[in-house]
Amino acid sequence: MNVLRKMRPSLVLLHMLVLAVVISGAALRAAGQAGTGETVSRKATEQFENSPLKITSLGEGLYVFSGDGGDVTAIVDNGSTLLIDSGLASRVTELSDAIFKATMRPVTRLVNTHWHFDHTGGNVFFGSAGVTIIAQENVKKRLSSVQDVPFIGLRDGHYPPQALPTLTYSSSMTLTQGSQQLTLANYGSAHTDGDTVTYISPANVVVVGDIFSNHFYPIIDLASGGSIDGMIQSLDRVLAQTDAQTKIVPGHGPVATRADLQEYRDMLAQVRQRIKVLITSGKTIDEAVAAAPTKDFDAKWGGGYVPADVFTKMVFSSLTNAGSASR
Ligand SMILES: [Zn+2]
Repeated sequence: MNVLRKMRPSLVLLHMLVLAVVISGAALRAAGQAGTGETVSRKATEQFENSPLKITSLGEGLYVFSGDGGDVTAIVDNGSTLLIDSGLASRVTELSDAIFKATMRPVTRLVNTHWHFDHTGGNVFFGSAGVTIIAQENVKKRLSSVQDVPFIGLRDGHYPPQALPTLTYSSSMTLTQGSQQLTLANYGSAHTDGDTVTYISPANVVVVGDIFSNHFYPIIDLASGGSIDGMIQSLDRVLAQTDAQTKIVPGHGPVATRADLQEYRDMLAQVRQRIKVLITSGKTIDEAVAAAPTKDFDAKWGGGYVPADVFTKMVFSSLTNAGSASR
């Protein structure tokens, strides 16, 4: 410290900054986090912390709240509100106030579409208030212990008991909320190994979670059992059960139509096919990125927190089974 005292203040600051960068770099490497994806979680979190909270009414007592993490859907009956997803932890008070203002009814049940922090961040808040948390059974397993997702620089999980799902299912479950019937379905591993798609009828709304990012390349969470083939298969199941009038609530982005979902599914399938050809011809992951297999899609889909090179690497790794669980 004597040495530091003799330096000019600006030099001391520089010295400390360099030290901090070296230490944090070492800590990240020690945590096993990997190259290009390190910034994906951070960029996403910054976006969710700073976007205004928007409310969209779908009619028939259904609302979508977006901006504070993953899209949050509220379904109202005479005396209560059922929520699908709970947004980012740091914005849950704002979300809760906005939900009450729109619905004037207390939240009594909460469905999680999957375990990621931007969809379950409000679980502590709602769980502590006695709200019943419902999810596919693998969500409870993943939230109960520490999860590492090196591709996107995410280390999370190990939630407190009050934030864990208390009601779980394996492949499907039915709930009633007022005049609406909710069918929760899991189609196997897709974005993660615990994805829930919720069909709401007669409103003709389907809440699909992160198997669909509207306007952005999606995250495929290989460390949590996700895969590109699983994503496409789940999307095909949703396409088979919807029509031109269905309102589709994505995990992120504005409410969409079936035509939007079809376009997104076809983009995924084309990128998958191109990368498959590169793998078959013996290309390495870096050579596949250099071949720019998403080039003509980047203008439309590359503006989110998943850049084209990270998306290409996710698809490549999924197809070569690196870090991906088999279905
Ligand atoms: Zn997610």
